[in-house]
Amino acid sequence: MTSIHLKQLTKSFGAFQALKTMDLKIEDGEFVALLGPSGCGKSTTMNMIAGMEDPTSGSILFDDRDMNGVAMGRRGVGFVFQNYAIFTHMSVYDNLAYGLRMRKLPAAEIDRRVKQMAEFLQLGPLLTQPSAKLSVNILQRLAIGRSAIVEPAIFLLDEPLSNVDAAFRAVMRTELKHLQRQFKQTMVYVTHDQLEAMTMADRIAVMDHGVLLQSGSPVDVYNNPSSTFVAGFLGSPGMNLIRGELVDRADALHVDLGAFGLSEALEPSLARAAKAGRTRNVSYGFRPEQAQLEASSSGLPVFFVERIGSRTIVHLGGEGAVIKLVLGNDAGFEVGQTARLTVNPGSVRLFDGETGLAIREA
Ligand code: ATP
Repeated sequence: MTSIHLKQLTKSFGAFQALKTMDLKIEDGEFVALLGPSGCGKSTTMNMIAGMEDPTSGSILFDDRDMNGVAMGRRGVGFVFQNYAIFTHMSVYDNLAYGLRMRKLPAAEIDRRVKQMAEFLQLGPLLTQPSAKLSVNILQRLAIGRSAIVEPAIFLLDEPLSNVDAAFRAVMRTELKHLQRQFKQTMVYVTHDQLEAMTMADRIAVMDHGVLLQSGSPVDVYNNPSSTFVAGFLGSPGMNLIRGELVDRADALHVDLGAFGLSEALEPSLARAAKAGRTRNVSYGFRPEQAQLEASSSGLPVFFVERIGSRTIVHLGGEGAVIKLVLGNDAGFEVGQTARLTVNPGSVRLFDGETGLAIREA
């Protein structure tokens, strides 16, 4: 097993800085997802770890070995891309066996490992089939198996599920996690899909515009985003963020939320952090599942209701300022009625109204 240490890593293409700076340590056997919108620098980072691109500055260490100048083939890295890389003229068996034959393993050992991997990825009944006849879903599963079978110390996957259908993607999320538990590789997984990152990774590293914004366990980053960008990017729907202004009242500190009224009193630790902050303009945040809604004649207008099977998403407000709540599928709210909102006090998060950075006690 191998740890990966990215130290002050940057990458420019001409005058364009694709990666402005990246400091990240990925431990032995850890599954880290690089998560962010298109163009934020995820693949560029991955390509440098693989050795396909050279950094402009900074370094990449595998354990304590500097990878600068080490060719891709000598890094001990397995790579799976969005588009499956399979020899379509070969059978499933031969594709799986390919890397092991290149390493000149004994035939019996190759056969054992091919069958084990085939069983693991449910490719057993297809072993003798020509790969050209397989569906895109199965080809991608085979591509993953083909890279994993040589048991690279580091396994890099760049959007491997973006071309497969939704049902298969859900299956593969579980299989990939099992695969990593079985082989205990250090895994780096690039995705723009927060659900993939949240469900599989031990740690997510959220990026935007060539900068690493936050890294942490999925639950911690979800609960305690470091900025409004992270708060909105994670979750479906993302965190509710309402612009407002801090207001001192006799009892405690509140936030004037404009059309949404005055917030409940802020919890003491959050109030202390807010008072110590540099501005009274804030964004008031809470997750859509962290509030209650009660039918009331004087409240916020319900202007849209999405019923999506297990859940109901109720949209409150309107005219650009919208709050979304995730309720159970028995929530009886209808468009046109009004309702009273109560946000769970401990779930409130505040962000600086100008920088968008989280306001927290040190
Ligand atoms: P996506 O999922 O869309 O690939 P990403 O986060 O992986 O997004 P990168 O592929 O790392 O993004 O690209 C980051 C930025 O660098 C983009 O603006 C991209 O256009 C630019 N870029 C990437 N490779 C090159 C290149 N070889 N020459 C010039 N610009 C590049």
